[in-house]
Amino acid sequence: MSTNTLTRNSGSNKQARSSKLTANKTQPAALGDPVADVDVRAHEDIRAVLVDWKRYPSPVRPMGSDSATTRCNAASGGTLVRLSGMNKILRITAESVTVQPGVRIGELAEALAEQGLELPCGCDVADRTIGGVVAAPALQAGLPADGGQLAGHVIALKLITPSGRKLEVSQRNARLLSMMRLSYGLLGVIYEITLRVRKIRGFTVQHRKCDFTTLSGLVPKLMQLNAGIKFWLLPFRDRVYLELRRADAQAAEGRRLSWRIKEWAAYTALPSFARSLSRSIPVRQLRYPLIDRFSEATQGLVGATLTQSGSNSIEQTGKFRRLEVNPTFNYCTWVFSGERFSQTLMAYRYYCREYYQRTGFRCDMPAIGHRLNRDNSALLSPSFHASMMSITSMSTDQKGWEDFALGLDEFAQQNGGSPFFNQTKGASIERVNAAFDTRLPFFRKVRAQFDPDDRMLNQYFAGLIT
Ligand SMILES: Cc1cc2nc3c(=O)[nH]c(=O)nc-3n(C[C@H](O)[C@H](O)[C@H](O)COP(=O)(O)OP(=O)(O)OC[C@H]3O[C@@H](n4cnc5c(N)ncnc54)[C@H](O)[C@@H]3O)c2cc1C
Repeated sequence: MSTNTLTRNSGSNKQARSSKLTANKTQPAALGDPVADVDVRAHEDIRAVLVDWKRYPSPVRPMGSDSATTRCNAASGGTLVRLSGMNKILRITAESVTVQPGVRIGELAEALAEQGLELPCGCDVADRTIGGVVAAPALQAGLPADGGQLAGHVIALKLITPSGRKLEVSQRNARLLSMMRLSYGLLGVIYEITLRVRKIRGFTVQHRKCDFTTLSGLVPKLMQLNAGIKFWLLPFRDRVYLELRRADAQAAEGRRLSWRIKEWAAYTALPSFARSLSRSIPVRQLRYPLIDRFSEATQGLVGATLTQSGSNSIEQTGKFRRLEVNPTFNYCTWVFSGERFSQTLMAYRYYCREYYQRTGFRCDMPAIGHRLNRDNSALLSPSFHASMMSITSMSTDQKGWEDFALGLDEFAQQNGGSPFFNQTKGASIERVNAAFDTRLPFFRKVRAQFDPDDRMLNQYFAGLIT
């Protein structure tokens, strides 16, 4: 056990976090809450939790910054293990960095930047933890050579297995390492991570505006392009904003402030504007066109003019956004085959419009898309076999959102979509089985060997992967 007292938080997942109890007091839990809610500071703390079934009942669920939008972190009646206190950067060399899992991407990017280094990934939500991005997939507008996931750049991991054993996995055991990456905390709690780093590299950014039909025609070319690809979809304006990032050693590094303003406009100003309009203009036929125009202006002015160049380092250190436990907007991500994405894109536009006509609900924020480069470095990688395209639907409207998000499962079924267990609300078991084909039965077998007593299996995963 570490010298720190193992502390327990009162309240439930995504709720109260402030008050702390010492480990031997009991806390009555509401239905669905964890019985124990623990801040860990060292691997001995994690072990102490995992071996003590009485004080720390199952399921034991590790948690980073808790920004997942599904119940992958839920520990109903069990034990929540918060890793955000394990936030030390342990070692930086010219080729790699070793960190505890609770370090935030933004903090790490800052420390690396001081030495002229950066992460070889374009993950843009800087407030999430390295543990969260290694244990679960993330979207990024990365160059094909950088792969699809930050997890692919992990060269060594240390974890405590569900039975409380210490395990070190490195590239020497590549198969086991591929199992551990994106394993959602089902094979153990990761307490140390070594990642590849590189010298800061510049990229140029090209912005394009077009309609859905034009983008649909460009898809085959985009799937082959040696660029990072991100796009914003406004189905009700038939408008697409495309951003292409190309490696360019001569490119100016870009300005932090510009990237910060860009993100502020998209993730703070726009949702705030949409929410305040929904209070002041209840008539949706008047409100939505105003929000769409604001989105277009944001893209046109802020996106295209401010960020002509950058680097992963500048983008990740230029973040101001703190991940909120209850964010001001909802989102749901599905990934689709790149080969069929021309049709999927048109179908998505049709789906959004038809859904609005039928139910009166539509997303008030633009959907965001990324090309997810082929990456078979993790068994459960969403782009294991080929590069994919993602669509993340986003909305500030609560009323109607849940049904819309659940309806996307049917849309995904018709269009061959694959879910992320941490970002896709309402994925059905049928979609999960279809998406992960023979990899899922294999993962099940491995999980059963690592965790025969289901110490880390919560209801959410029990319903989807067992
Ligand atoms: C407002 C908002 C915007 C977002 N935008 C994006 C976006 O643009 N792109 C994108 O890709 N994602 C986005 N996300 C999603 C989110 O960043 C990802 O889900 C990410 O995985 C979360 O990291 P985290 O630290 O919050 O992990 P958590 O949500 O805490 O955990 C994710 C999973 O990893 C497991 N885990 C965490 N730490 C460990 C560990 N040490 N050992 C073992 N398992 C562990 C958990 O059990 C869980 O299964 C957004 C989220 C929010 C709230």
